[in-house]
This record gives sequence, C-alpha cells and structure tokens, in this order.
Amino acid sequence: MAKITYEKPIVEMQGDEMTRILWDWIKEILIEPKVELNTEFYDLGLTHRDETDDLVTKEAGEAIKRLGVGVKCATITPNNQRMEEYGLKRLYPSPNGTIRAILDGTVFRTPILIKGITPYIPTWTQPITIARHAYGDVYKATDVRVEDVAKAELLVTKADGSEAKYPVHDFKGAGVLQGMHNTDKSIDAFAHSCFNFALSAKQDLWLGTKDTISKVYDGRFKAIFAEVYEKEFKEAYEKAGIKYEYTLIDDCVARVVRSNGGMVWACKNYDGDVMSDMLATAFGSLAMMSSVLVSPDGNYEYEAAHGTVTRHYYKYRAGEETSTNSVATIFAWSGALRKRGESENNAELIKFADDLERATLTTIESGYMTGDLAIIFKADGITPKKLNSRDFLKAIASNM
Ligand code: NAP
Ligand code: MG
Repeated sequence: MAKITYEKPIVEMQGDEMTRILWDWIKEILIEPKVELNTEFYDLGLTHRDETDDLVTKEAGEAIKRLGVGVKCATITPNNQRMEEYGLKRLYPSPNGTIRAILDGTVFRTPILIKGITPYIPTWTQPITIARHAYGDVYKATDVRVEDVAKAELLVTKADGSEAKYPVHDFKGAGVLQGMHNTDKSIDAFAHSCFNFALSAKQDLWLGTKDTISKVYDGRFKAIFAEVYEKEFKEAYEKAGIKYEYTLIDDCVARVVRSNGGMVWACKNYDGDVMSDMLATAFGSLAMMSSVLVSPDGNYEYEAAHGTVTRHYYKYRAGEETSTNSVATIFAWSGALRKRGESENNAELIKFADDLERATLTTIESGYMTGDLAIIFKADGITPKKLNSRDFLKAIASNM
C-alpha cells in the first residue's frame, strides 16, 4: 500500500535521554511504515544546543511560527550537575521557555484516559484540560529581602516622566517583599487561546481567579476574559452548546472535584503549575499527560508533559531492559499529524492519527502495557502484562 503523504512539513524537535530513544522507535515502528514523514528537523538534544550556542532552539521556535505545527521530544533543562555531565559552555535556559516566549502561547495539558486506570476521583469520567497562562506573575517577579525596619512603596514612572507612588508596607522588622506584573496584551492572548481551544474541543471553559482579594490584578483577568467572550465568542459558544463561566479560584477547585470532568480550566501561571501536577497524579500517571502549546495566531506545538526519564536512560545505557511509557510521546506525534491533516483537509492523515491513538489505548486496555501502568491497572478478567519499551510499541503496531 502506498504511504500517506502531506504537503507542508511539520517541525520535528528531537530531544534527550530515554525519550530520545523512544522518539526514533516510535517513528520506525509506528509512523514511518504508513506515513511518508515530511519534517523540518531540529536536534534540540543538549549536545547540539551546546554546539549551536542554543541557536537551534530559537530556529525551531521560528520554524513553528512559519510552518504552524511542531512536535517536540522532552529535553533536559540544564542545571550545574548537567553542565558538568555534558561539559557545557554555559547554563542554557529551558527550551520550552524559549519556544514559549517566541510563540507567546498558552500550554494546554490533557490526561489520556484508559479503561482499567481509575482516577483517584472516580467521578472524573472525562478529561480535564488545564490551560496555563505561561507568562508573568511570580515567574517574572522581583523578590526582595527586607533586613530590618523599613518602609516599602511601589513607584511607577510613566513615559512622560510623571510618577505615582503606592504604599506597600511599613516594616517594623525583617521580612520579605515581592513585585510582580502582567500585561493586557499577554492576558488577551491567553484569553483568545483558551476560547479557541475550548471551542474546538467543544468543551466548557472555566476561569478561576481571586478577584475578591486581588481586585485590580486578578480583576483584570476576569474583565479581559469577559470582554473577549462577549465580543468574539458568545455566538459561537451558544451555537456549539458550550458555556464560559467565571468563578472564584477556591470555588472552582471545589466544583472541579465534584464534576465529571470534560472542561477546559484556565489558570493563572502559578495556579496552572500547581493544578496540572495535581490533575496528572489524580488521573493516574504523569506519563499519561499530553501537552500542547497554542499561540494566539494559531500555531501548535505538541509534546509529552513528562521529562526525559533520566533514571530509565541510565539503565538503557547500561544495557539493561527498560519499560518506559511512550504513550504521551505517541500522542504528541498523533496530535501534530492530525493538526497537519486538518490544515490540509487530508482525511487519510487524520484517520491515521485517530487509528494510532485508538490502537495505543486498546493495546493497554487489552492488558499489554509498560511497568508504570501495570502496577495501577485493574480490569475484570485481565492480568496486566508488562512489556519492555520496544515490545510495547510493537504490540501497538500489530493492533493497528
Ligand atoms: P521525568 O523525566 O518526568 O521523570 C520522573 C520520574 O517519573 C521517572 O523517573 C519515572 O519514575 C516517572 N516517569 C516519567 N515519565 C515516565 C514515562 N514516560 N514512563 C515511565 N515512567 C515515567 O522528570 P525528572 O526526572 O524530574 O526530569 C528528567 C529531565 O527531564 C530533567 O533534566 C528535566 O530538565 C527534564 N524535563 C523536561 C521536560 C520537558 O522537556 N517538557 C519536562 C520535565 C522535565 P520511576 O523512575 O519511578 O520509574
Ligand atoms: Mg510544576
């Protein structure tokens, strides 16, 4: 049978360690037998980032802007220990951060649900997607230690040189202080990404902040979302039979826990950081969380939410057998291929992406899985069988 083809390349970003090994195997065993892959390739492996002084990461980000769809393998964010291990010239920033800054995107994380793996909250029968605003707040704050008695004020100097001062606190002794910000432009881009994502997923969109306490700061998020909804999305949402709702963040948490899932939950930067780990764990496994970065102008970058699985890689390098879960990385590939299929009205390619995902899920549901799932899998009449990393991919291929 002729292989499936498509017109415009997708941006392929190779990564590090165990996920780098899985990456090549996924292509070899699951994709290339059926699809004539057309990619623009960027090696974001740490060694090559070092060789190119991290230029390759920026080029990859620019390429996603140009080609619209990218798929990325997990990469090492170097620390001092990695600097020594890889003999790096310097400490490079997180590639995800670099690419996010280029695309100005929102990160959406969705758990991959499987029969046999029950969430810790059993009423969650549908996935909950976290949309994390990936700019500003405490992640771009100025942190100050106050050593002794002091008066703290906030000074804002406008473009015309005029100044406004705001009291913060009269310190009677030592303490701490923080100055943080966000911008209308970034919050507006965040709102657009969220409204578009929920609409295309045909799910309700929820936003929760603490605007009763943080009236101006969090109030701005609430106001911008409301304005974007009224002006641009209300009609489409009503037509699609979905809702946009704003609630206080604490009420939002309580309602999410009582829900059946099936919504997109827009979170400020810190809330999204915390809540996405809570959700991944509650849904069963970090290895079953997919992630997509969506820019306000409609570019998509797919990846797994987990890291490079270092511990397994050291075993692999020592010649030992590994049983590393490739599901989230497979879904990154299927997500990117489906998106390219949609942009080119390519029914064959879309069907391939659907088939690949279904084969992956049925392989696990019929009892064949990696070790991390085998210990939590429970289904009547099925004894889970733990496969090694490569045999798991072969089992999926035979199910396709
Ligand atoms: P990690 O790679 O996600 O792994 C942490 C642990 O979670 C693993 O040791 C493993 O537990 C389990 N795990 C995660 N993914 C798994 C999978 N696919 N299959 C089976 N088990 C899985 O996080 P990390 O060890 O903290 O970070 C390793 C490197 O990844 C770091 O250099 C970090 O910078 C990088 N990182 C990259 C990204 C990204 O590119 N998006 C995200 C996070 C971290 P057991 O060892 O108990 O089996
Ligand atoms: Mg986190």
